[in-house]
Amino acid sequence: MAEAYDPGNIFAKILRGEIPSHRIYEDDAVVAFIDVMPQGVGHTLVVPKAPSRNILDADPATFAPLFAVVQKVAVAVKKAFNADGVTILQFNEPASGQTVYHLHVHVIPRFEGVPLKPHSGQMEKPEVLAENAGKIRAALGN
Ligand code: AMP
Repeated sequence: MAEAYDPGNIFAKILRGEIPSHRIYEDDAVVAFIDVMPQGVGHTLVVPKAPSRNILDADPATFAPLFAVVQKVAVAVKKAFNADGVTILQFNEPASGQTVYHLHVHVIPRFEGVPLKPHSGQMEKPEVLAENAGKIRAALGN
């Protein structure tokens, strides 16, 4: 039996505006903000507002709006950082590497020959995160 969704998780708090984030996109169903421990420049998280722990317990209706925004953000980060490619990652339960239990998709700009930094590694400086968020918003036309 799957574990229950915990509305006290950190992304639920970000969605409710209880803790800050560098938001780059929001619509009725989805929010996107910068990852504070980026695996590469411009690492962004795309998060549905509907509560679920991960892909295993999500309402299937969540995925169409979520992945529409994943695509928008992928195109925007590639443009914003003149990247060569984009990696999409998504983790489900601790054995997979998931650390925050509200469904989310990682969107990471990639550059030829540059490896990803560790998952949930080092905290980036807030001013760098703010600057990168500004570049992505500009690329999104926001
Ligand atoms: P996962 O392991 O897929 O659950 O990834 C959780 C991600 O959330 C990691 O990449 C963390 O760096 C990131 N993260 C944790 N706390 C925050 C936060 N307050 N704001 C933005 N990103 C966060």
